[in-house]
Amino acid sequence: MKNVIFLAPPLAGKGTFSEYLIKEYGYQHYSTGDLLREKAKRDEKLQNLLLSGSLVDDETILKIVKEVLQKRESSKPFILDGVPRTLHQAKNLDIILNDLGCNDFVVIQIKTEKDILVDRVVGRRICPNCHRSYNVLLEGFKPKNEHICDACGSTLIQRKDDNLESFEVRYQAYLESTVPIISYYEEKGILRTISNNESNQERAFEELRGVISGH
Ligand code: ADP
Repeated sequence: MKNVIFLAPPLAGKGTFSEYLIKEYGYQHYSTGDLLREKAKRDEKLQNLLLSGSLVDDETILKIVKEVLQKRESSKPFILDGVPRTLHQAKNLDIILNDLGCNDFVVIQIKTEKDILVDRVVGRRICPNCHRSYNVLLEGFKPKNEHICDACGSTLIQRKDDNLESFEVRYQAYLESTVPIISYYEEKGILRTISNNESNQERAFEELRGVISGH
């Protein structure tokens, strides 16, 4: 299986696709959002920055990513979820991955219409323990009990940045900083695109299976 880098606007489905790859294929998962939220518990300035939806500086991100990749199990494929988000991160990530000998990866762009992303913001709930995500407002994504994770029984939480104001900042950051990376990977010939506009995700998962196995 190829290592995977996801490029996607907020709420497009990076977390859900990651969860599928972890469960089905044993991928290791590195989400910069999760790593930063953990770090922010001890750092009020970072907490406020995440709340606003603005991007964290490139050097902090690169340091975190390098650290987790150095500790990975080299026998298992991995997912980078949330990085790179700027061209500077993408170029430096190439150097990190090259130094670690991880050259076999595919970059998956997830495409979702903005109005669908907006519909997903307010109802998203996350399990703080196993990181599974749900949506209490959308059929097919609701947990059995509105407050409890189906998978592990933990109490679900709402991310503080899952409000329309912060979403708008994150979406603009995606357009301005992350979209330019798409052509960078396209020119390298390693970009694949999956649409995730529908409420039935089976078709998207089928495409995902094809992409990671190189078909
Ligand atoms: P989403 O995709 O829903 O916006 P994430 O959990 O991936 O959520 O990221 C949450 C926040 O963490 C972002 O809004 C940003 O502030 C910060 N962040 C995560 N990854 C990066 C990155 N690679 N570069 C800069 N900031 C990042």
